[in-house]
Amino acid sequence: MLNFSDSHLEYPCYTGDTKSEKKQFEVVLIDADDTLWENYFYFEKARETFLNFMEKQGFDREEVNYYLNHFDTKRLEDIGFGSNGFKKAMEFTLNHFYSKKNMLIGANEKNFLFNIKEYIYNQPSIPYPGVKTTLHYLKKRYSLFLVTKGDSKEQLNKVKRSGLASYFRETIVLNDKKEEHYRKLIVSLKLNPEKTVMVGNSPKSDINPAVKAGMYGILIKREKQWAYEEEELIKSDKIITIHSFKELARIL
Ligand SMILES: [Mg+2]
Repeated sequence: MLNFSDSHLEYPCYTGDTKSEKKQFEVVLIDADDTLWENYFYFEKARETFLNFMEKQGFDREEVNYYLNHFDTKRLEDIGFGSNGFKKAMEFTLNHFYSKKNMLIGANEKNFLFNIKEYIYNQPSIPYPGVKTTLHYLKKRYSLFLVTKGDSKEQLNKVKRSGLASYFRETIVLNDKKEEHYRKLIVSLKLNPEKTVMVGNSPKSDINPAVKAGMYGILIKREKQWAYEEEELIKSDKIITIHSFKELARIL
């Protein structure tokens, strides 16, 4: 049987008649970026492009990367998520290094940062292998909600490009994903947290806060992760870890 109490297991195990077990949940909330499609990859490509540029200007690559990370992860509350937030983080970094050498930021630099932002903004949002068939399977059995965070326009554009919107009853873009946001979702969507599971790639944004709010959590562990999203999983028998979206059809 599906057993959430064996939280030390990397894979859940169930045997026998799964029909009744699979009715355990009524609602499945699903994260978008790096859960349904690749996202971090594009930020990393953008980072490489920026670091190459700064290196050519005579700055130390590692030091620039340190400051970019600092602005990108430590100041998110001020600068926001998404391509615009990353552009601001690059601007802060550029300012920091240019001012040390009394260099001026000109049209060339502004265009360069704008183009990097556009590159991230226009990422293709191609679903991971098996996502569509798995969503098709899940939609027949559960109420599905897409729960993402960031800039509303940017996130909704990604959902549109992905072609996945019709699998979900609703797409919800939160400005952040902390415990309080999940508690508000429980109220606004009239959810029973004991019958609700949150699926996502981030312990910090998807799993820990949702479980603290009373829901279950399924972590899809990705090899590479944005530093901001790194956090130890809380100890809970309500959490399962899997390694691909396709595996959901086995456990839900
Ligand atoms: Mg994510």
